[in-house]
Amino acid sequence: MFLDRDGVINEKPAPHEYIRSFDEFRLLPNIADWIRLFNALGYAVIVITNQRGVARGLMTEAALASIHSRMLEELGAKGARIDDIFYCPHEENSCECRKPKPGLVYAARDKWDIDLAHSLLLGDSDSDGQLAAACGVRFLRVLDGRLV
Ligand SMILES: [Mg+2]
Ligand SMILES: [Zn+2]
Repeated sequence: MFLDRDGVINEKPAPHEYIRSFDEFRLLPNIADWIRLFNALGYAVIVITNQRGVARGLMTEAALASIHSRMLEELGAKGARIDDIFYCPHEENSCECRKPKPGLVYAARDKWDIDLAHSLLLGDSDSDGQLAAACGVRFLRVLDGRLV
């Protein structure tokens, strides 16, 4: 189960803004329940997220790691387990991992031995849908924490 982060797990920042600290991080209301369901079904739950704010010097990778460890703690307190987080810290057109490029999905597949044909990606943007199509992963669009 691949989950985009901003707009799926937490409230999306304003356009061209970034979540730079956990103070700005707001879990969406139903996501912990969804993740608990995926956990119970035996899926690996993997976050894949573009975080270009790192390349732009708006946050350090340490700050991003801290946001992610607190995200895991907050979800864990609700009984929801994320197994891994893959992120792209790069600027556009400078890497093979910025979504919709498939680098993050392939890295997760190789690390966790995932069968992409039996995977699902939840995302809120066109680039998530393009990524899923390119990788042969089924896609469900989410808008502000709801399936659409
Ligand atoms: Mg998103
Ligand atoms: Zn990248």
